[in-house]
Amino acid sequence: MTFEEIKALDEQYVMHAYSRFPVAIERGKGATLQSTDGREYIDFTAGIGVASLGYADEGWMSAVTEQAGKLAHVSNLFYTEPYAKTAQKLCQRTGMSNVMFANSGAEANEAMIKLARKWSFDKYGKGRGTIITLHNSFHGRTITTLAATGQEKFHNYFFPFTEGFRYADANDLNSVEAVAGHDVCAVMMELIQGEGGVLPLERTFVQEVADLCAKRDWLLLIDEVQTGVGRTGSLFAFQQYGIQPDVVSFAKGIAGGLPFGGVMANQKCREVFAPGTHGTTFGGNPIAAAAACHVLDRINDHFLAQVQKKGDYLREQTEALDLPCLGATRGMGLMIGVEVREGWTNRELAAKLIEHGLLVLTAGPGLRFLPPLVITQEEMDKGLAILKETLG
Ligand SMILES: *Cc1c(COP(=O)(O)O)cnc(C)c1O
Repeated sequence: MTFEEIKALDEQYVMHAYSRFPVAIERGKGATLQSTDGREYIDFTAGIGVASLGYADEGWMSAVTEQAGKLAHVSNLFYTEPYAKTAQKLCQRTGMSNVMFANSGAEANEAMIKLARKWSFDKYGKGRGTIITLHNSFHGRTITTLAATGQEKFHNYFFPFTEGFRYADANDLNSVEAVAGHDVCAVMMELIQGEGGVLPLERTFVQEVADLCAKRDWLLLIDEVQTGVGRTGSLFAFQQYGIQPDVVSFAKGIAGGLPFGGVMANQKCREVFAPGTHGTTFGGNPIAAAAACHVLDRINDHFLAQVQKKGDYLREQTEALDLPCLGATRGMGLMIGVEVREGWTNRELAAKLIEHGLLVLTAGPGLRFLPPLVITQEEMDKGLAILKETLG
C-alpha cells in the first residue's frame, strides 16, 4: 500500500487519538527505518525508548521466533521457563528480591501503586494509602496513573480520578515534607522525568527522599519505565543514584519491541502480593519474556559502557553544531533532552527533521533523543548531519 492509501484507511477507521507525522514506517534495520515509499530515516526515537536493540536484530529475532515455535501463551496458572529466567536475571543484577510482570508501563505502575497500598494496609490498616509524586512527572494513562501524574493538564475530562495522590516539587525536600501526613505510604518518582522534558533529579534530593522514606516508613517507588534497561548507561538509573528502592517499575525497552513490563520488589515487599490480590492474563507472556531474557543478556557491562560513550558523543556533537534554535543538552546515557530556544517550537522542529530524514521526539518544551541503544557511529553521524543541514 502507498502512504496515501494507508493514511486514508487510518483516517476513516482509526480513532484520532494521536497527531501522527506524515510517514508510514514499513521496516527497519539497526537504527535506520524505511518508509512505505522507500525513504530512509535515522531513528533517534526507538519507538519512544522501546526498540533497545534496534530493528530486526538477529539474536532478538531468533529468541522470539524460537519461543513462538514452542509456546506463545499459557496462563499464569502454570510455570514457564522464560518468566522465571527473566525474573532471576533482573533480581541478580539489581539486588531486588522478586518480580511480577505486566504488559506496559501504566500497568507496571498500577501494580507498584497497588503493592505500596497493600503493604501499608497489611502493616498499618486503612487510611494510609496516599502516595506523594512529583510535579512534571508522567506515570501513565490509566485513571490511577493519570492521577499519579503530577501535571494539571492530565487531570481533565475523565472524572472522577483515583484519590490518594499529592504532588511535590522536584529537587525540593521542603516541598515533599510540606505535603507529608499520617496518611502517606510512599513516594513515587522518575529519576529522570522523561515526558516532562528529560529532567534528571539531583542526586542529593533523591538521597534525601530515600532517607525521609526510611525515617517515616514510607516505601520508595521508582518509575524506571523510561530510564530502565540500559537507557541511561546502567541497567537501571537508580544504580547511578546510590539508592536501593523498595519497588521499581519498568517497561518500554525491556523486551526490545514487544509489550512487556513489570515491578521488582525488595525483601521487605516480596510477600505483599499473595494469590488472588493481583494478576493479569498476558503479563509475563512467554514470547515477550524470551525477548526480555535476550535483551538482558545483551546489555552487559561492555554494552552499557558503549551506551555511555555514545550518549556523551551525541550530546557533545549536538551542542558543537551551535544551531540557532537549540540550546544546551541534558540527560544520562542515551536519554537526551535538548533545549529549544525561544522563537521556535519543538513540534515544528521535530516535523522539519522528520521531513529531512531524522526521527526525533519532543518532551516538555524541548526535543528528546532516545535512539536504539545499538545505534552505530555512522548512524549517529548521519543523524547529526541532518540536524545541521535542516536547522543550521
Ligand atoms: C511511557 C511511560 C509510562 C507509561 O508507559 P505505557 O507503556 O505507555 O503505559 C509510565 N511512566 C514513564 C516514566 C514513562 O515514560
